[in-house]
Amino acid sequence: MGLDQHGRSIDYLRISITDRCNLRCLYCMPEEGVAWQPHDAMLSLEEIQHFVQLAAAEGFSRIRLTGGEPLVRLGVTDLVRNISNTPGIERVAMTTNGILLPDMAAALREAGLSRVNISLDTLDPEQFTYITRWGRIEDVFAGIDTALIVGFDPVKINAVVVRSLNQDLLAFAKLSLARPLHVRFIEYMPVGDVCGSDGLGWTAADTIPNEELIQLINDHARADGIGELKPIGGQEPEGWGPARYYTFEGAQGTVGFISAISRHFCAECNRLRMTAEGTLRPCLFSDLEFSIAAPLRAGDDVAVRRILREALDSKPDEHHNRVGTERLMSQIGG
Ligand code: SAM
Ligand code: SF4
Repeated sequence: MGLDQHGRSIDYLRISITDRCNLRCLYCMPEEGVAWQPHDAMLSLEEIQHFVQLAAAEGFSRIRLTGGEPLVRLGVTDLVRNISNTPGIERVAMTTNGILLPDMAAALREAGLSRVNISLDTLDPEQFTYITRWGRIEDVFAGIDTALIVGFDPVKINAVVVRSLNQDLLAFAKLSLARPLHVRFIEYMPVGDVCGSDGLGWTAADTIPNEELIQLINDHARADGIGELKPIGGQEPEGWGPARYYTFEGAQGTVGFISAISRHFCAECNRLRMTAEGTLRPCLFSDLEFSIAAPLRAGDDVAVRRILREALDSKPDEHHNRVGTERLMSQIGG
């Protein structure tokens, strides 16, 4: 397994397979989209798959496909199958907005996708359309239902919390009661210029620290008569990522809190990111990048592995509260 300069074992590769999307979430992408990478600038599915083989040889065993919206990339099911069949790869997961899951989930499951994170920031239909600019919340609900029916495990719901959106946090947390859904609240990260003064006007003050979130939810939960969230204390299944997990008594699912900012988890960082055009990013918050596209296309595996190693060796010890980046989340993959 590959160790980085700080002794962390890096075995988790997040691959953005497209910068395009069927939604335009306010904090992620401008309405008109971004200057899309031309198709031939993006790695082909074969190139992605070959890179996964090389990464597996360097100790990567877990892959997450993301985007943009990974389900809009043609051939994604075959990609999942080929990656799942790659020696050394133990798990293939996906982060999706869920809209296309009703049609695609069964085939993806059969192809080897085992876990999905579905992004959903509100339970209010109108607010959903506002945040996503044109999405219909029923489509995501249908996606969640299908994800459970076909047997993805776990099915996590990722909600970015923004103070000025005033989301119904208790309603979200209660999604974990009756079904095995794992709701995770993610601190909003002011990344890219759609968010700040040039765009939405959301600032660092819109990030609600997790401690405050937990308290808010517990206050409402007590008033609702369902008790309080209790830490599941070290019972997290392996590979559940950097959240702190809690549960309501008798609930089938859990409620997690991910604080990239107020309580960063850099010391446990186990990941490397790759953008759709083949650029490795050692840290979400740093613009330091390493392109493997040219050697990958030229079939120069030795150079690809050398650059992969350089990227690993360049992982910083922590993000040092640097949060601006030159790319938007949709171009990195979150
Ligand atoms: N389209 C897929 C989706 O929405 O799940 C995958 C890509 S999306 C960029 C991945 C995740 O990044 C989503 O959960 C999204 O909410 C999150 N994200 C995007 N911009 C963000 C920001 N500024 N702060 C925190 N999370 C963000
Ligand atoms: Fe698309 Fe996901 Fe970004 Fe929303 S968060 S615009 S669904 S890539």
